[in-house]
Amino acid sequence: MEKRKLVIIGSGPAGYTAAIYAARANLEPLLFEGFYSGTAGGQLMTTTDVENFPGFPEGILGPELMILCRKQAQRFGTEVLTEDVTSVALSSHPFKVFGSKTEILADALIIATGATAKVLDVEGTREGEFWQKGVTACAICDGAAPIFRNKDLYVIGGGDSACEEGIFLTKYASKVYIVHRRDELRASKILAERALKHPKIEVLWDHALTKVEGENVVGSVILKNVKTEEEQKRPAGGVFFAIGFNPNTKFLEGQLELEENKYLRVKPGSSKTSVEGVFAAGDVHDHVYRQAVTAAGRGCMAALDAERWLSSQGLID
Ligand code: NAP
Repeated sequence: MEKRKLVIIGSGPAGYTAAIYAARANLEPLLFEGFYSGTAGGQLMTTTDVENFPGFPEGILGPELMILCRKQAQRFGTEVLTEDVTSVALSSHPFKVFGSKTEILADALIIATGATAKVLDVEGTREGEFWQKGVTACAICDGAAPIFRNKDLYVIGGGDSACEEGIFLTKYASKVYIVHRRDELRASKILAERALKHPKIEVLWDHALTKVEGENVVGSVILKNVKTEEEQKRPAGGVFFAIGFNPNTKFLEGQLELEENKYLRVKPGSSKTSVEGVFAAGDVHDHVYRQAVTAAGRGCMAALDAERWLSSQGLID
C-alpha cells in the first residue's frame, strides 16, 4: 500500500485550506475530494453569490471560489483524488484510508468532510422540482437573491438557525414566517426573543410544510396545522429549511470520539481529535459558526497541527 505523509479527506474550504498550507510545507498531501458522497467542493458548490468571504469586494460565486481553492491547493503540489473515503482504520499507525478505489497508508490525517443540511422530503422541494428555485437550506448563502425580494418567505424549523436565518431574511422579504412543528422554540433565549419581537417575523406554531407549488419558481406553500390537521395554501416566494445539519462522520464511527450530536470531538483550542495524528477541520466538528471563512481558518490550524505533530514524531525533517 502506498504511504503518504498526510491525507486530507474533504474538499470544502477547510480541506483545501489545509491542503494549501500542508503542500506549502512540503507534506505532499493527498486529498480525497469525494464523488458520490456529496458535491466535491462542499456546501459552497450549491450556493450562488458569496459576499462575506474576505478578498472579494464584489462577491464571488460559491462554485467559482471552490474551483480557485482547488487550483491553489494543486499549484503547490496537492494531489486530488475524485473518490469517496468509505472507511478508515485508526487503531494502528500508519493509519489506513480506504477509498472507493484506492487504499492508502497515512502518517497523519485531516478530516474535513463537513456537514450536510437536513431537508424534508416534501413534494415540490426536491431536485428537479423547486430545489434551488426558491427552496434552499441556507438563507445566509442564498437569501439575497433577487427572487426573494419583497416576497413572503417561509423558514422551516424552530432552532437557532431558523431564528437567525429568519431575522437575516427580513432584510429582503416583505414578511418572514417561521414554520415550527411545536408550540415552543428550541432556539436560545436571545435569538428566540429577537425573532419573536421582530415586526416582520411571525411564527406559525404547530405547523408543518406539506407541499410547495409554483410555476418556474416557488409560488405558494401548503401548510398543515399538526394539531387540527387543517391545511392552508399561502403565497410564498421562498422556502428555507433550517432544521439542523448532519455532520459527515458516519464513516468514522467507532474510530474517533464523536460528540452526542455526532460531530467530531476536538480538544478545545486545537484541531486534535481523540487519536494522535488525526486532526479535524471545519463543519465536521464545528456546529456553531459553520462559515466558509471559519472552516478555512480551521483548515489552516489542522495543517499546522499536523505538521507539528509529524515533526514531533520524527516523521518529517
Ligand atoms: P437544531 O438546534 O437541531 O434545531 C432544529 C430545529 O428544526 C428544531 O426546532 C426542530 O424541531 C426542527 N426540526 C428538526 N427536524 C424537523 C423535521 N423533520 N420537521 C420539522 N422540523 C424539524 O438545529 P439548528 O438550529 O441548525 O442549530 C444547530 C446548532 O447550531 C445548535 O447547537 C445551535 O445552537 C447552533 N447555532 C447557533 C447559532 C448562533 O448562536 N448564532 C446560530 C445557528 C445555529 P424541534 O424543536 O421540535 O425538535
